Amino acid sequence: MAPIFCADCGTECALVDGRDVDAHNPEIADAWVWACPVCPASWAHQDKDGGCVGLPAGQATVNARALLRLQVMVPLVRQAPPNEQTLAAARVRAFLADHLDLADQEGLLANLNLDQLRQAWRILHAATYDDVRIWAQRHRGTKRRTPASGEGVAA
Ligand SMILES: [Zn+2]
Repeated sequence: MAPIFCADCGTECALVDGRDVDAHNPEIADAWVWACPVCPASWAHQDKDGGCVGLPAGQATVNARALLRLQVMVPLVRQAPPNEQTLAAARVRAFLADHLDLADQEGLLANLNLDQLRQAWRILHAATYDDVRIWAQRHRGTKRRTPASGEGVAA
């Protein structure tokens, strides 16, 4: 498995008993977590395949990820019509990943470090959902090799 690096300092993390990271946090008392040997309280949950949920990070980074979601990403998704919210959330994530030069993936936010979060804030704060939708429609053609039926037909 690929090594896991701390989002805050870049040090390789190790899988440890949650109790050794924070004995008072019931969330991890009975779990193995990926933790940074350098930063105090920089950790992330182990995923079901033994890998890591996002990248381990300390409280400041974890808070910044939550703020970006609540104050920028959710309002952006809410600009989409109600029946388009799920698609809109995926589009906003893909839009952000593309602008940060990262692979689009589930849980993208949990992989970001503070520098990337600052960039993400600037990118998304300046965008409207229309920008995201237009970007998504433009990019759809570049990801598929052949157009789906009904698409690419000359008008
Ligand atoms: Zn660290």
